Amino acid sequence: MEPLIAVKNLKKYFRVGGGTFRGKKGTLKAVDGISFSIPRGETLGLVGESGCGKTTVGRTICRLYEPTAGEVIFDGVPVFSIHPKEMLPIRRKMQMIFQDPYASLNARMTVGDIIGEPIDIHNLADSKEERLEMIHELLHTVGLSPEHATRFPHEFSGGQRQRIGVARALAVEPSFIICDEPISALDVSIQAQVINMLEELQEERGLTYLFIAHDLSMVKHTSHRVAVMYLGKIVELAESVELYKNPLHPYTKALMSAIPIPDPDIEAERERIILEGDVPSPIDPPPGCRFKSRCSYAMDVCGEEEPELRNFSGHHVACHLIK
Ligand code: SF4
Repeated sequence: MEPLIAVKNLKKYFRVGGGTFRGKKGTLKAVDGISFSIPRGETLGLVGESGCGKTTVGRTICRLYEPTAGEVIFDGVPVFSIHPKEMLPIRRKMQMIFQDPYASLNARMTVGDIIGEPIDIHNLADSKEERLEMIHELLHTVGLSPEHATRFPHEFSGGQRQRIGVARALAVEPSFIICDEPISALDVSIQAQVINMLEELQEERGLTYLFIAHDLSMVKHTSHRVAVMYLGKIVELAESVELYKNPLHPYTKALMSAIPIPDPDIEAERERIILEGDVPSPIDPPPGCRFKSRCSYAMDVCGEEEPELRNFSGHHVACHLIK
């Protein structure tokens, strides 16, 4: 199937001065040559520890950051070739939901105006009445009621605020949504509600998601495929069922071992892989495999050659161990 979005060799580097980042000066390679595609109506989970570059991937795809290199083809259009002033039609199709439902909503605006803002920017309503009708409909879609339109964000719980963020994203009828850790700041009891809502919306509207998370358990049930990132690179990418059943990369195995199992007997028996060693600086990272300082399988070749992401019947992995 033709993918809705294809990311090709994406790089995003930041220049950093002395003393601002671990006292080092140089080029911070936040995203260093990653590629993936997402078919229409599917979800790709993008997982990795804090600082691995996953949020930068999301922000660069929709050009909140300008890329250093690479290309994004969205619905057949090369996004980075478009002049920034001509991005409005693409932005309408590509929306983002942010991690912090407290910080991402303007506290001085009513919920109605927060949701109405993108309707105004993209000129989607012909009259005030139509605009209000659209806002009420969007509130209903995310499980809130029309009366909520006149209230302010501080009057809502975290889960409700994230619903408002989803309504704002849906206002322009996007086909692709970048969900940047949308449940990390929420209580566990609320997380499942937001996930269920996103899944229902995907089914009803054929939405395509890039679902960013720091923990494999958060994407297990939502993603058709999962990509694992480490220090600016994708180290493993596979169908969700395959990845959870048969993780190949030592880093993925360690992340997997941190997911609690709801059966106390199995949980007590299984071995937890504790990652030791320092995470190298993303500023001018060392040659070879970036995971070698924490990998208990590291060999000589791992310090000399950077492992490529290779395809083993649809299961992609970047590790010299896997032949
Ligand atoms: Fe470990 Fe080497 Fe594989 Fe890197 S390439 S994950 S250091 S075995």
